[in-house]
Amino acid sequence: MKLNRQNKLLIGLCTAAAILIAKLFSIQIIDDKYKLASENNSLVYNTIYPNRGIINDRNGKILVGNKVAYDLMITPREVEEFDTLTFCNVLGVSQEFVREKMAEYRKFRTRIGWRTVVMIKQLPQETYMRFAEVAYKFPGFRGQSRSIREYPYNAGGNLLGYVSEVDADFIKKHEGEYSSGDYAGKTGIEAAREKELRGVKGYNIMLRDSRNKIMSRYQNGEMDMEATPGDHITTTIDAELQHYGQMLMNNKVGSLIAIEPSTGEILTMVSSPGIDVDMLADIGKYYNDIVTDPYKPMFNRTVQASYPPGSVFKLVNGLIGLQEGVITPNTHYPCSMGYKFGKNKLGCHAHKSPVDFEESIMMSCNAYYCYILRDLLENGKNGTIAESMDKWKQYVESFGFGKKLGSDFPSELGGFIPGSKYYNKVYGKGGWKATTVISLSIGQGEIGCTPLHLANLCATLANRGYYYTPHIIKDSENVKIDDRFKERNYTMVDTTHFHKVIGGMYRAVNSGYGSGGTASVAAVEGLDICGKTGTAQNPHGDDHSVFICFAPKDNPKIAVAAYVENGGFGASWAAPIASLLTEMYLTGGISQGRKPLEDKVLNGNLLHKVKVKTKK
Ligand SMILES: [Zn+2]
Repeated sequence: MKLNRQNKLLIGLCTAAAILIAKLFSIQIIDDKYKLASENNSLVYNTIYPNRGIINDRNGKILVGNKVAYDLMITPREVEEFDTLTFCNVLGVSQEFVREKMAEYRKFRTRIGWRTVVMIKQLPQETYMRFAEVAYKFPGFRGQSRSIREYPYNAGGNLLGYVSEVDADFIKKHEGEYSSGDYAGKTGIEAAREKELRGVKGYNIMLRDSRNKIMSRYQNGEMDMEATPGDHITTTIDAELQHYGQMLMNNKVGSLIAIEPSTGEILTMVSSPGIDVDMLADIGKYYNDIVTDPYKPMFNRTVQASYPPGSVFKLVNGLIGLQEGVITPNTHYPCSMGYKFGKNKLGCHAHKSPVDFEESIMMSCNAYYCYILRDLLENGKNGTIAESMDKWKQYVESFGFGKKLGSDFPSELGGFIPGSKYYNKVYGKGGWKATTVISLSIGQGEIGCTPLHLANLCATLANRGYYYTPHIIKDSENVKIDDRFKERNYTMVDTTHFHKVIGGMYRAVNSGYGSGGTASVAAVEGLDICGKTGTAQNPHGDDHSVFICFAPKDNPKIAVAAYVENGGFGASWAAPIASLLTEMYLTGGISQGRKPLEDKVLNGNLLHKVKVKTKK
C-alpha cells in the first residue's frame, strides 16, 4: 500500500485515538478491580513493621538505636462525626490540617475505598498515648507503631547515613522488595547494609463483616505473621573517639581518619563539616538546608575529596629510592633553600646542609627528594624515562594510591597517579623529562589522593610494609565481612627499608624544639609518636595543612591522617589535631601540658579561610 500524506495523518490520528481509548479502559477496569479488591475482600492485612537492626560501635555502645513512634492511620469510610477541637488538641495539629485532610479523603473516596491510609507520620510516643486514651471517641482512626532511628552519640553522621521513606522510583528499582510506606537506608552504613538491617515485615489479618466493618482477628490470629527484626551490625568505629574527632574538626573543613594498623579497622572517620545526628533523625525536615549548605556537609571528604598529598608523600619516594638503590640511609644531599635545575629552582626552607636520609624526613627537605626522583627516572636501570616513570607509578600504586582502596564504604573514589601515558598526552612523546615532573617528588603536581589513602599510607608505615584494606564493618556472627579485608597487601618495598623511614618520622616529632624537627608540636611524653608533616600547595587560597602519625613506634595501635583545608603549615593545625586524637585514644585523656593546645584546636575556626560558593 502506498501511503500518501493524508493516509499517514489518518493512521496517526487513529493510533492516538486507540491509545487514548486503551488508557481510559485501563483506568476504568483497574480502578474497578481496585474497588473489588479493597471493598469486597473480607480479609484485611495490617502491616507490622520490624525493628531495624541496631548499629553498635566496636565496644558495644549503641551508635544508632530505635525508638517507637506511631503513624496515625485512618480508614475514611469508618470515620463518623467527631469533635475536631479535641482531636487537634490531643494530637497537636491545626484544624486547618484536619479539614484539608478530610477534604482530600472525600475527593478520592472512590480510589481509597475501604483502605486504611496514613494521616500523620511519626507521632512521638507521648502524643500517641494521649490520643490512645480518647481513641474510642474517634472511630476510623488507629495508631500503627513503627521504630524510628535514635542516636545516643553525636558521632559519625556521614558514616551512619540516614533512613527515609521509599518513593516510587526506589520501589521500582528494588522490585518486589518494598512497598509504599516502607523505610530504607539511603546513605552511609544504613544504605550499605540495608539488607541485614531492614528485617522482615509481618502482618495481622483482620476480618470484615458484610457491611465492611472490621470485626475480629481472622482465625484468632493463628495465620498472622510476626515481624522479624533486622540484624544488629557492629562497626569498627570507636564512638567516643569519633565524637572527640568531630569536636577537634569543628569549624574546620577537612578530614580526620584513624585506623588500627593491625586490622585495617577504621576507628574514626570525620568529614567536616558533617551532618549532625539530630538532622539524620528527621532528614526530611533538614534535607534542603543540608544540600544548600555551601560547606557541603553531605560530601564525604574522607573518601570523595582528591587532594595533592604534599610532603607526607616524600616517605613513599624515599622508600622507593631505598628499594631501587638510588640512595642508602647514609646518602647526603646538599640543600641551599631548594633544588636548582637549569634556570629553575624548587624552593626549600632554611635548615642545615647537607642532610642524610633520616634528617631529610625529620626536617622535610624538598631538595633531597628532587635528587631521589631525578635519579630514579634518569639512571636507566628500568629503561627509558617513560619506563622508569611507569615503574615509579607501579611502586606508588602498591601503597594503595591511584585506585579505590576497596573499603566497604560505598562512595569511595580512587584518586590519580600519573604515568608516562599521561605525560605523553600532555607534553607529547619525548616532550617531557625528569625535571618536568619534579614536583611529584614532594607530593605536588598531578597526584590526587583521598584522606583515606593517607591514613592507609600511615597504617602501612606502622606495619612496616603492608596494609589491610580499611573497613568500617566489624566481622560478627550476624554480619560476615569479606575475606579480602583479612589479607595483607604488601607494597613493593622490603620491610627493612621501613625502619629508616620510621626513624626519620620519630625524630620529626621527638627531637625537641630547635632541633629542626618539623613536628615537635605533636610530641607526647611516653607515647613515641612517629609523624610527618605536609603542607599542600593550594592555588585557590591558603595551603592545606597535612599530618600523618602513628603510635607507639613499636607495636602501633593507631595510625592517623589529618587533612585541614586552608590550615597552612602541617604543624599549624593537622599535627595538633592528629596528635590530640592519638593521645586521647592511647591514654583516655589529654595531659595537663597539652591542654592549651587542645583549647586552641577546639576553639579554632578556619571556616572564613575556605572559599565557598554561597547561594544568592
Ligand atoms: Zn631542604
